[in-house]
Amino acid sequence: MINVRGISCSELLSEVRAYNPGADLSLIEKAYHFAEKAHRNQVRLSGEPFFAHPVSVAGILISYKLDVPTIVAGLLHDVVEDTSVVQEDIVREFGSEIAQLVEGVTKLTSMSKSAHQKSETVGKVREDNQAENIRKVFLAMARDIRVILIKLADRLHNLRTLSPLSSNKQQFIAQETLEIYAPLTHRLGLWHMMWEMEDLAFRYLDPEAFQALQQAVDERTRAREMVILEAVETLKEKLSQADVPAEIEGRSKHLYSIHLKMVRKEKELPEIYDLQAVRVLVQTVEHCYAVLGVAHGLWMPLPDRIKDYIAKPKSNHYRSLHTTVYGPGGEPLEIQIRTREMHMVAEYG
Ligand code: MN
Repeated sequence: MINVRGISCSELLSEVRAYNPGADLSLIEKAYHFAEKAHRNQVRLSGEPFFAHPVSVAGILISYKLDVPTIVAGLLHDVVEDTSVVQEDIVREFGSEIAQLVEGVTKLTSMSKSAHQKSETVGKVREDNQAENIRKVFLAMARDIRVILIKLADRLHNLRTLSPLSSNKQQFIAQETLEIYAPLTHRLGLWHMMWEMEDLAFRYLDPEAFQALQQAVDERTRAREMVILEAVETLKEKLSQADVPAEIEGRSKHLYSIHLKMVRKEKELPEIYDLQAVRVLVQTVEHCYAVLGVAHGLWMPLPDRIKDYIAKPKSNHYRSLHTTVYGPGGEPLEIQIRTREMHMVAEYG
């Protein structure tokens, strides 16, 4: 989606224009050149210009369709921290709203840095309640939610570009991500960001377990692909006969959530039913229940695996019908049924 090698200013502007046609883009343009100049002689450990980082962070913020001040602050988020630019320069050039956003992000960054130094001297991982405290401080310090969003985009891009760092640093950042940042994405309902953060953190925290699981899941997924395809085709045909317009897709779970499930429930991979599931998207709630009826007419449901999160939504507002059936070939197959609206909430918050 976003090219790490540096997005041009005009590409950035046209992406913003696409979802915010009336926006005044001049500040974004100004911030782009301001940050480029401020970071001019800095390089990342990977050897690429440092400026590629704030631009990528802005790109992530744009993919969440955020407002202009947030994108501007995303471009500027490291200039006070890492260059000779001072807070007063930001106020003068970009006004107090943007300056406050930048200041908020800078504070969160220095908090994380001092936590890192402390953990290095103490030489142990933080306790759980400490992580909870840090999350609270984060939320309190960042009274403006946009500060958190910029910090999350910053962390996501740092995770994506973690490989040149020492393994010690990688481990710290991965651990901190699971303790502080991923729970914040969860709280904010940013599921896509959470999945990506968790899988990246898992990869660096426990590379062996990550690779073993990835391989095992790949093998099972390949073996099951035909089954899923057959299930999708059969369901499509029956639903069109029943006059229920639906969009059907296969989906797979992200690795970290499989890992947690195996650890928590002490299960082996073959015992996890919802590695791969079929997802059905329809227009109305009535159609959700109609799909459930059609699916149960085709395949026998497993007892106790029917969950009605439409009648009784999860605490995070997740709504869907879930059932697990003995699908084609007699293997358990999870089916998730929801309206398009429920889907948007489930995926993007
Ligand atoms: Mn940064």
